[in-house]
Amino acid sequence: MRALTFHGPGDVRCEVVADPGVRDPGDAVVQVELAAICGSDLHVYRGHEVGLDAGTVLGHEFLGRVVAVGDDVGRLRPGDAVVGPFTTSCGACATCRSGLTCRCPRGELLGWVQQGRGLHGAQADHVRVPLADATLVAAPPDLDPAEVLLCGDVLATGMFCAEAADVRPGAEVAVVGCGPVGLMGVVAARERGAARVWALDAVPERLALAERLGARPLDVADDVALGRLRADGVDGVLEAVGSPAATRLAFDLVRPGGTLAACGVHTEAHFAFAPGEAYDRNLTYRAGRCPARRLLEPALELVRAGRYDLAAVFSHRLPLDEGPRAYELFDRKLEGCTKVLLVP
Ligand SMILES: [Zn+2]
Ligand SMILES: [Zn+2]
Repeated sequence: MRALTFHGPGDVRCEVVADPGVRDPGDAVVQVELAAICGSDLHVYRGHEVGLDAGTVLGHEFLGRVVAVGDDVGRLRPGDAVVGPFTTSCGACATCRSGLTCRCPRGELLGWVQQGRGLHGAQADHVRVPLADATLVAAPPDLDPAEVLLCGDVLATGMFCAEAADVRPGAEVAVVGCGPVGLMGVVAARERGAARVWALDAVPERLALAERLGARPLDVADDVALGRLRADGVDGVLEAVGSPAATRLAFDLVRPGGTLAACGVHTEAHFAFAPGEAYDRNLTYRAGRCPARRLLEPALELVRAGRYDLAAVFSHRLPLDEGPRAYELFDRKLEGCTKVLLVP
């Protein structure tokens, strides 16, 4: 089959690799009908996250059709349309039952193989999904596949971040970073009843999308507007970048007693604010990977309600063979690229 494989920073190739088969009795093999490139794929592409083996198939956002199942799979059959979260989970352990499916001890991140261990990804013709019964969810046939795909990662992550930021009805909220996850954070904050959602970014296309989704756009280069927002403060900040600068900006916006929720993937070793500053602000800080399996069904409900043009986050739709170019477009934000759909 064809797959997008990682060979080092800036080096993604579309190659022919062995078809994945059923390896464990709980596996399903899914024929991928749509995949997407996630901002966190760029952490690997840019060399910020290291450890991935050369030849690893990338990608963790996908939907498709089951083509084979192992003997222990009871809920899925070949032909079923499914959408996956970006990590597998067993659904039965204490961690899964607590709702933190992303930290299931048996779970794995799709598209991460390190020292020969791990799981190949979904930017490919086929993907093997372990723990398939508990991991995969039926993809409703009547919904836009591009929006269903978002439920497995970025929409779920936006919802998780708004939950972590404790967004309540009437709250004033800021979203730092209007990439796809930040944009979904705008939607999620509005859904939780936020009175006002500020969307902060430097890229005009992203700010325009945030405004379309109901946020008040704020260009971070606009010192006057930013100074005013800093002075007023907000109740909660969704930090959807994953950099020290974004953390610092988010911290500066939080009112005393407010919450800073980080869903950006951080790779730095230290906080961008001091413990004393957090104390003086009575700050609540939350961070972590989204339990996308827990939030997948609520995300599908949000899509079904149809209140937002969520598919607008996709600026490009390209065949899988053009994956290397897709990575370059997304990485360098060329051609107004906000997010790419890949069609195997
Ligand atoms: Zn992702
Ligand atoms: Zn589990």
